Amino acid sequence: MGRARLALLLLIAAAAAAFFAFDGHHLLRPENLQALLARVQAYYGANPLQTALLFFALYAGVTGLSLPGATAMTLLAGAIFGLLWGTVIVSFASTIGATLAFLASRFLLRDWVQARFGDKLKPINEGVAKEGAFYLFALRLVPAFPFVAINLLMGLTPIRTWTYAWVSLVGMLAGTIVYVYAGTKLGEFRISFGLLAAFALLGVFPLIAKRAMDAIKARRVYARWSTPARFDRNLVVIGAGSAGLVSAYIAAAVKAKVTLVEKHRMGGDCLNTGCVPSKALLRSAKFVQQARKAKDLGIKTATIEFDFADVMERVQRVIRTIEPHDSAERYAGLGVECIQGEARIVSPWTVEITGADGRKQALTTRSIVIAAGARPFVPPIPGIEGMNCLTSDNIWELRKLPARLVVLGGGPIGCELAQAFARLGSKVIQVEMLPRILIREDPEISDMVMQRFTAEGVEVRVNHKAKEFRLEGGRKLLVCEHQGRDVRIEFDQVLCAVGRIANTEGYGLEELGIATTKARTVETNEYLQTLYPNIYACGDVAGPFQFTHTAAHQAWYAAVNALFGSFRTFRADYSVIPWATFTDPEVARVGLNETEAKEKGIAYEASVYRIDDLDRAIADETAHGIVKVLTVPGKDRILGVTIAGEHAGDLIAEFVAAMRHGFGMNKILGTIHIYPTLVEANKYAAGVWKKAHAPQALLRLVERLHAWRRG
Ligand SMILES: Cc1cc2nc3c(=O)[nH]c(=O)nc-3n(C[C@H](O)[C@H](O)[C@H](O)COP(=O)(O)OP(=O)(O)OC[C@H]3O[C@@H](n4cnc5c(N)ncnc54)[C@H](O)[C@@H]3O)c2cc1C
Repeated sequence: MGRARLALLLLIAAAAAAFFAFDGHHLLRPENLQALLARVQAYYGANPLQTALLFFALYAGVTGLSLPGATAMTLLAGAIFGLLWGTVIVSFASTIGATLAFLASRFLLRDWVQARFGDKLKPINEGVAKEGAFYLFALRLVPAFPFVAINLLMGLTPIRTWTYAWVSLVGMLAGTIVYVYAGTKLGEFRISFGLLAAFALLGVFPLIAKRAMDAIKARRVYARWSTPARFDRNLVVIGAGSAGLVSAYIAAAVKAKVTLVEKHRMGGDCLNTGCVPSKALLRSAKFVQQARKAKDLGIKTATIEFDFADVMERVQRVIRTIEPHDSAERYAGLGVECIQGEARIVSPWTVEITGADGRKQALTTRSIVIAAGARPFVPPIPGIEGMNCLTSDNIWELRKLPARLVVLGGGPIGCELAQAFARLGSKVIQVEMLPRILIREDPEISDMVMQRFTAEGVEVRVNHKAKEFRLEGGRKLLVCEHQGRDVRIEFDQVLCAVGRIANTEGYGLEELGIATTKARTVETNEYLQTLYPNIYACGDVAGPFQFTHTAAHQAWYAAVNALFGSFRTFRADYSVIPWATFTDPEVARVGLNETEAKEKGIAYEASVYRIDDLDRAIADETAHGIVKVLTVPGKDRILGVTIAGEHAGDLIAEFVAAMRHGFGMNKILGTIHIYPTLVEANKYAAGVWKKAHAPQALLRLVERLHAWRRG
């Protein structure tokens, strides 16, 4: 640390020490204000100018040194100098103090912080460089944001000092007036209407300030558009997948006039290319596997014969059976206007729809919900374009089983399909560049799944980075980098399952300036609003999750906020999000796992129950897997659960309810679970926890009591 910095640090430390030594912090406590006021007022009567100057210097000093007491001094200013002069003195003194604290923070800390956390602070720096004045103004307007914290944090950003000073002065003015006014009532030793009004104003001021900020922001984004005089609809929903269907359903249920636009197939990915076909395929594949393991059930032989094409036709039959649930007819019956066509947002209130026949119509609407979903990501690996790559979009068209199938990707979709195709008879080679498959789960869970895959003949190649696809003499080859050398894998077909990217192009987002995030999803706030407060996004297009149930969950918030946001808004609640990967063993999770708890430094206890001990699982020949519950040390509050095993996705529901509604391991243990069921595993996991928390000293005492009673 340089000399100048050291000197400044010592000066600040000395001033702060003096403040505390002279009992400044006690003096400025609210309960001591009356006494202090009486003394200062007496001095003020005799020396008004001196008092004002002294008060000004003291105020600037206290705030400049980031010492406690600014609020009390603001109230005092009102009581001593009255509303006008109190406001003038506090406004300028607090601006000078804030700027001094800002400069001190910049001088002492900014280089160090930027050198250490520069990459993390980059978006903040960019945001401040672009719109720093506006954000500072927003922070200053709402007194709930701590004055000291703003000074110190803004000092670390690239905002200019002059900008900082004047924006602070203007931004704090409204709050200052309210506090100074409350101070003018301090001297009144009776409860007056004015005093009550002042305190009520203090209470509601943050709310008013927030509303004012929202209005200012909205004016800025809508400035270049003209609002329609009237609206054709309350809500237009773009995309009829899980998110869009639920949004439209809710809107119709609350009697809004809603239009749902779908350019392809009602039901979106989940019904047509995602959850439904994949689960139907997994079921057929599971049956084939069970037949292979007939001996385990005491059946000597069970020969199975099947055509892959029939299996894939069954998948389509399942889709057709479920289709009516998501059909235009059903939704029309519920009160939703369904339009087949491609939607494009042409203004914050206008959606243009191009029908299949090319005819266009424009609908004006108060709000829009974007639920445009996502699509498979095909990475730009050299040569991939010549491989007729399969994805989750087109794999359902296959009628001939690939003899050798390379599955790129070790995530849930890659794992589910790799196992299904292997069970149906393909030679599957699964390629994953990370050290393990299902990387979001704990290593022992990945290992459990990988071991099963290997036992069933799936060749799992972890730490293999796909580098290039080649066609050599009619042979298809994938070249991977593995431990510094090239590995060649020959195959017939390749399934690309390395992730999904949100559909954000081609329907007006760019033209409206609606931004995307680093994860390439539509940027929304916690209310699922985009840049335009009346345009919402939910489901895969918004992220951060890519599940049907989270799409539906978000859809509720998007629809309700879109329709009733002027009265009340709801923050999307992601506190308890469960999911499952439908491999065998199935893997289900809610909340934290051990890996995440360690990464985040969260203390936990793990209670593990092994399902190989469970009566029903033994009877069913499914005695494998675990229930692992993380709890707060010494308490029964659940932090997270991972279940691997048969029907894990169903079993976890009890823990999801526990976390959502705040009951713990004791309550799970105290619930009757039907014997013999797989769900008893949850109770036994709670039993493991209880055993580890048995009151040992009390038990020893009771043991002695029993011995004594036996005589
Ligand atoms: C193989 C696979 C298996 C899966 N398994 C599961 C699972 O077991 N459980 C689970 O929870 N999730 C699963 N998912 C994920 C799940 O399918 C998605 O999270 C879910 O479908 C997202 O719903 P959505 O409404 O956000 O998007 P989508 O279902 O993709 O719907 C978006 C719709 O918007 C339409 N659209 C886009 N742009 C426009 C436009 N401009 N105009 C009109 N229409 C437009 C599209 O045509 C599409 O129909 C799986 C996904 C895949 C691929």
